Amino acid sequence: MLTYEVIFVDFECPLCNALINVNETCPNCGSEMEDWGRVEDYFDPYNPYLDKDTTTMGESPHECIHLFTCPRCGYDTRIIVNQIPT
Ligand SMILES: [Zn+2]
Ligand SMILES: [Zn+2]
Repeated sequence: MLTYEVIFVDFECPLCNALINVNETCPNCGSEMEDWGRVEDYFDPYNPYLDKDTTTMGESPHECIHLFTCPRCGYDTRIIVNQIPT
């Protein structure tokens, strides 16, 4: 019996894996913003509008979008992180 091994280059987000630090400053109040993780994690997986194919349309598949929020004034923004091959 033959065993097939699937070899592919895996990409991962350096921010998700704590390999890098992103220091974002809130444009409203100047506070340091907090990384709340991947934007995708905050969406309902059953929401048809948030199908992976739809949310990544027009974007590189090797990007991770993080949600950053300001703990002081509540401002939030999205930071696109380029994933790196593992
Ligand atoms: Zn990430
Ligand atoms: Zn702020």
